[in-house]
Amino acid sequence: MTNAAPPKFAKTLGILGGGQLGRMSAMAAARLGIKTHIYTPEALSPASQVSAKTFVGDYDNKDLLKEFAESVDVISYEFENIPIDCVKFLKTIKPVYPDENLLEISQHRWNEKTFLNQCGIHTARWAKATSAADIQSTLEQWSLTSCIIKTTRFGYDGKGQAKIDISNGQPIENTIQTAWESLKTDEAIIEQIVPFQCELSVIAARDTYGKIICYPPTLNEHQNHILSKSIAPAPLDKNIIEKSLDITKNLVHQIGLVGVMALEMFLTKDGEIIANEIAPRTHNSGHWTIDACSVSQFENHVRAVCGLPLGDPTPHSSAIMHNLIGDDIDHLDQYWTKPGTNIHLYGKSE
Ligand code: AMP
Repeated sequence: MTNAAPPKFAKTLGILGGGQLGRMSAMAAARLGIKTHIYTPEALSPASQVSAKTFVGDYDNKDLLKEFAESVDVISYEFENIPIDCVKFLKTIKPVYPDENLLEISQHRWNEKTFLNQCGIHTARWAKATSAADIQSTLEQWSLTSCIIKTTRFGYDGKGQAKIDISNGQPIENTIQTAWESLKTDEAIIEQIVPFQCELSVIAARDTYGKIICYPPTLNEHQNHILSKSIAPAPLDKNIIEKSLDITKNLVHQIGLVGVMALEMFLTKDGEIIANEIAPRTHNSGHWTIDACSVSQFENHVRAVCGLPLGDPTPHSSAIMHNLIGDDIDHLDQYWTKPGTNIHLYGKSE
């Protein structure tokens, strides 16, 4: 099903999801005089605190979804696990960007890896797995003793993921079996462990007129699989930067994106770029674009889906983003008066 005609300067933007990415998009929209309505199952979400209206309901509540859709000019989403049926239903009422094909790809790791490979983009060597026996036979076939297994759906921040390493001589069956059981799934992928130098991401936007822009790659560090630090622009070799931008632009073009998406990548020890994951939305590694670029990823997302031309992604400053995780918030005092520092709090209840 194709989307309705794109809006020309939408005045009210609907966002599915009430998290921090929706909040930052709503704040960017407000600067452009665009009102935001949020649809979320969560009362008092971070995004609703800064939006004109919130519809609190489940993603299968068709009456409320219809009311939401009728109250806005265009709809987007701020996280990837929106049920596809919800998007298909909303599309019969108002345009939804990015299109659901991107959600279908990014919600399921088999689709995601297949799509990336079809676009000629390298990924870690991978295979489908529906049982512990599949993992064992794939490892034997690959002549490997270690791998990562990941659930096909709902994996984030290292959840739905387990590492297997049987090189220390533990009984193969037990280790694989335990890892498989920990995923609590019947569909997974098995991936070769990439010996990476670093992790990077590129955030790109495409508008309804077909123009594509990219922010420079960001270098990302994780703590317990959670993004802890982003350095932008990534201090990497010019060729690597160009290559990561080319890969992302190619992907955006093939998808026919409208809005913002991010591609997470590894730079291997051999200097190869390997794509890991597509985020069909604004990305945590791009918070720095609010303070270091004239037009942030959030504003460009709003511009793209609201039918406006994209703004300049060139940074006017370099930036380091520190993510305050858990109790880090208790050490906020050191940042309030630190020169060149901007603080962004999400308004989360916990
Ligand atoms: P993901 O859920 O795929 O984004 O993975 C979360 C994190 O796990 C990544 O940011 C990497 O730090 C690590 N990781 C995932 N896949 C691999 C892999 N194939 N090889 C090495 N590290 C990985």
